[in-house]
Amino acid sequence: MTATDKDDVVTCDACPVLCRIRPGKTGACDRYGNVAGTLTRMDPFVISRRAAADDGDMVPFLATESWDGKLIREADTFVTGIGAGTTYPDYKPAPFIVGSDPQGLDTVTVVSEGIFSYCGIKVKIDTDRFVGPETAAVRAGGEQVGHVTTAEYGSQMLALGGVRHLTGGSKKEGTVTCDTLLQLLNKGAVDLAIDGGAEVTIQAGRPPVINGVQEMRMRVGCGSATIGIFAQQWYGHADEVIVVDDHITGVLSEHQAGRFLGLEPAGIRVRGRRSTPGRYFQVAEPGTGWGGTDISDPLAIIDRIDPKRAKPGLRLFMVSTTGEDAAFFVLDDDLKPAPAEMPPELQTVVERIGENCEPALTSILFMAGAGGSLRAGVTENPVRLTRSVRAALTRVTCGGAPVYVWPGGGITLMVDVTRLPDNAFGYVPTPAIVGPIEFTLRRADYAALGGHVGAIRPLDEVLAGQRVAVTPWRDENPWPAATATP
Ligand code: SF4
Repeated sequence: MTATDKDDVVTCDACPVLCRIRPGKTGACDRYGNVAGTLTRMDPFVISRRAAADDGDMVPFLATESWDGKLIREADTFVTGIGAGTTYPDYKPAPFIVGSDPQGLDTVTVVSEGIFSYCGIKVKIDTDRFVGPETAAVRAGGEQVGHVTTAEYGSQMLALGGVRHLTGGSKKEGTVTCDTLLQLLNKGAVDLAIDGGAEVTIQAGRPPVINGVQEMRMRVGCGSATIGIFAQQWYGHADEVIVVDDHITGVLSEHQAGRFLGLEPAGIRVRGRRSTPGRYFQVAEPGTGWGGTDISDPLAIIDRIDPKRAKPGLRLFMVSTTGEDAAFFVLDDDLKPAPAEMPPELQTVVERIGENCEPALTSILFMAGAGGSLRAGVTENPVRLTRSVRAALTRVTCGGAPVYVWPGGGITLMVDVTRLPDNAFGYVPTPAIVGPIEFTLRRADYAALGGHVGAIRPLDEVLAGQRVAVTPWRDENPWPAATATP
């Protein structure tokens, strides 16, 4: 219940902050306001509509407006949790429990805006450039908001947010962490500084900017993989090819690919630790130079040249894993590499390496636990919802976007924020992130798991009098209702 006192101040009960809101004002999160003495969710309720067969390719877009009772095709309309509001504490049914009958499946969609204290972001930055040592603190405005985590193939990874930064540190740390997450979740850009590493600017679906330089290419593979891909194309145009890479530097004449082509080791020994033939670790320190190393002169990784094997006139080609750096040398009479003009055949392969690099992007995955009391807004028996999700009877989405649900206990999900409508996330100053969540399942399954069946309402009744925004359905997202098990 929402309390209103004699001065028409309303107490918002949508989160534990319990703001007392004067007429014409909004609460601390700006999501709720006092409109003529009534607690009101200030943002429109977002529904998403897919094109029907007789619409052609066009989905009419309606600006935000009060729903005027127009007839809509239920089968092509999905109610998102965006703007739906929150019921706190969750023993009350979720704000909207919508019943519809698309294609005779008799579907129920339970929508809510979840308040997530246990949440964060996994960031994938497509670059080999060094952003900071693993476990290094990642800071926004001087506050730690996360850390560098294990790098993946061709990408650096950050883990941002999480309950420790949101609630376990100072108030400022929690506030800055919440702000940082919110910006990124709503597809905004954020500047971060990494202890002992780089300054980065990241934004979902955009190229990362590292130390002020926009990254263009994701490497074609590690140094060894690059040799495997292009060995045949270099053959006959160089006597030795060294692909410089921070993780695995490849040396063609020693590599299995070179041996396969009949090459003998050319006698040019690179620094670092030999892992297997033609594959070397730690040839240099990580950095923002060639292949994610700290070098700008590729010859710096050559340890020695063996006079028993190397010969004057040997053609040495060195290249990075993105093709952004390349150099050609010929050994002089003293077996010293002398810069020389690169043969056109090698230049062609340099360009082909670049062509095979995918554009470098930043990917932002929201990760949150929906397995807590949020489930009580769906059912009186929360563990049954978890089991229903496990059994694929219930489809979980965030703003209509498909989620990955982790195995094990609870409903711990991950979702790509670029697949949600814009500005789908909010916050409360506890601090915590507010995000849309929808559970879609058959009505019979909903009843079986102890759902709030008495709170199911038809779509037109739910929309009546609501300020509604209609967004076109994103075709890359699977239609949730259709996946309910018949
Ligand atoms: S912070 Fe927002 S949701 Fe929480 S009580 Fe205040 S107005 Fe309501």
